[in-house]
Amino acid sequence: MKAVIIGAGMGGTSAAIALRQLGHEVEVYEQVTENRPVGAAISVWSNGVKCLNHLGLEAETAALGGIVDSMSYIDAFTGETMCRFSMAPLIDEVGQRPYPIARAELQLMLMNAFGHDEIRFGKKMVAVHDGPDHATVEFADGSTAHGDIVIAADGARSLARDYVLGRAVERRYAGYVNFNGLVPVDEEIGPATEWTTYVGDSRRVSVMPVADNRFYFFFDVTMPEGVPFERGTARDVLADEFAGWAPGVQKLIRTLDPETTNRVEILDTDPFHTWVKGRVALLGDAAHNTTPDIGQGGCSAMEDSIALQFAFRDHADDLHAALAAYEASRTERAADLVLRARKRCDVTHGKDPEATAAWYEELRSEDGTNVIRGIVGNIVGGPLT
Ligand code: FAD
Repeated sequence: MKAVIIGAGMGGTSAAIALRQLGHEVEVYEQVTENRPVGAAISVWSNGVKCLNHLGLEAETAALGGIVDSMSYIDAFTGETMCRFSMAPLIDEVGQRPYPIARAELQLMLMNAFGHDEIRFGKKMVAVHDGPDHATVEFADGSTAHGDIVIAADGARSLARDYVLGRAVERRYAGYVNFNGLVPVDEEIGPATEWTTYVGDSRRVSVMPVADNRFYFFFDVTMPEGVPFERGTARDVLADEFAGWAPGVQKLIRTLDPETTNRVEILDTDPFHTWVKGRVALLGDAAHNTTPDIGQGGCSAMEDSIALQFAFRDHADDLHAALAAYEASRTERAADLVLRARKRCDVTHGKDPEATAAWYEELRSEDGTNVIRGIVGNIVGGPLT
């Protein structure tokens, strides 16, 4: 079988490796001309790490991952620790340590595992069609590619999604903007092996370690959609938005590099359950675009890839049965994660201020049990459980 994969993000590259593990011919097409992902890092939770391990990348993933031994929540204004607890119960329960990883490094690891030179960069899909004998992708340069199947991992603004669903899908603004980047580890901001989150005023500021003594940081700023922003001004904007926050937050604002700080408006899509049309299937954000509030979008994309592999392993002689099995195994799980993230997003960002205030109160008496139960609930349920 020949698979044509559109998009060399986390979804497309992991699917490419997964299908190749079964011995299939795989071609990957990507619109950009070089690996420049938006966003500084992501937390790859235990379910995502298990997917990477399954793809043969256990040692590489561990080498890129930050060590998170504990989590804490800090009062935004007083700097007082609301709770601090070990990650050990989570790791024991799910059997795998999570790893925050710099996004460009994760992306490069996946590209190299498939074969960086084999990825056809600079190929922008402009149309996709199903057909009786093969599916066809048309590119902006006038060329085409044919495959027995097309896996469209073309991200949150997917073109293939409109084709598969037969309608355009509206993305929903989640009410906040995320600023993110990397800084050297600094104990004045947070302990070196802790995921530290400052909360207050329906906002949060977080740091967590990635490899090479760096913190991945992000600021969630509730604001209307479409507020203008000039790249390079992040420090001024954040100093203004977070005036009066604790000294650790002020140190982070002074430390970050405004030129490399990213600003992303956060959107998601309502879940839908049709992911396949004939020989064309959606995967990753194209199929389930979530807010990052539980850190599961990329993990879910990698779960899709493993589920796709299992479906083609179990239905080796019938690609339509395989794609149907893939869809059946994933839509409910992925929808659950989107809705869990949306719920978390609303509490974190003050959709109902009373619920947010109640959460802050809960954090003051938290011993880790409830937070870890919630995270385990997100992690379990995928193809590798
Ligand atoms: P993408 O990574 O978007 O890749 C799609 C690829 O397709 C791109 O390379 C794009 O250039 C290409 N493409 C698009 N259209 C075309 C076309 N027409 N032709 C050819 N190529 C095309 N997830 C986590 O698991 N943990 C986290 O902590 C986390 N944090 C996040 C923080 C933020 C601020 C955001 C915004 C997201 C976060 N996510 C996180 C989600 C994660 O980034 C996505 O779920 C993940 O990148 C999805 O991978 P993908 O391959 O489906 O899509």
